[in-house]
Amino acid sequence: MDRQHVAALLNFCATVDSRVRRSMATQEQAAATIRSWAEALAHVPAVADTVDWDASRAARRYYEQAHGDRSAQFRPIEPADLLAAWAPYRAELMNRHTDPLPTADPDDVVAWRAELLGTRHAVAHGQQPPSEHRALTAGGPHPDVEARLRAIGSCIPAAARAELARYRPTRAAREAAVAAGQPDPLGVRCDWCQAPAGQPCRSRRTRPDGSVRSNAHRARPHPSRVDLAAARLATAV
Ligand SMILES: [Zn+2]
Repeated sequence: MDRQHVAALLNFCATVDSRVRRSMATQEQAAATIRSWAEALAHVPAVADTVDWDASRAARRYYEQAHGDRSAQFRPIEPADLLAAWAPYRAELMNRHTDPLPTADPDDVVAWRAELLGTRHAVAHGQQPPSEHRALTAGGPHPDVEARLRAIGSCIPAAARAELARYRPTRAAREAAVAAGQPDPLGVRCDWCQAPAGQPCRSRRTRPDGSVRSNAHRARPHPSRVDLAAARLATAV
């Protein structure tokens, strides 16, 4: 607050408190009071839209509270009361603020530091809104996007999925089966060839001595796996 702000504020306080009025009885007294208040409240803004702060409203609230609590030692308002009233607003601003990347050359440490502190200072004094990029980037996708993703079931659009089908027949067959409400054999582990869920069955051919001759993917799952998936689906329904 500059002297003009302080003068307006003291003018308001003088209308509700005769002691403030008396302390500003002469020109010299008023000038001295305004000077000392402006010095004490140099870092308190008169108005800060970013946190809905208004110094004159804080002063009014001080007198409203004093009125409601007659038992308390009721004294005229002082700069300390405004500093105390401003403190939580300042804390809220700093909580919301994330240091933006300075535009200064990072190799110029002095300029970099000065810009960083300058921005913080401006935010703490209500001269500049906090930079809330963390609030914007935190969390997952927008609820609308999430709902759409759930409905579609995939980030891959249906048209692209159809194009891809011929390059991944196993997956396409699975998706077609699930879409048709049929059992998905690859959704369960194969007890026959030990293929884990999601992996296709393998045909293991061994030589008479027990060593593996081939271990190729099977285009069709083992029948016991299909039966198992069907049983799972039946119990699930
Ligand atoms: Zn198998």
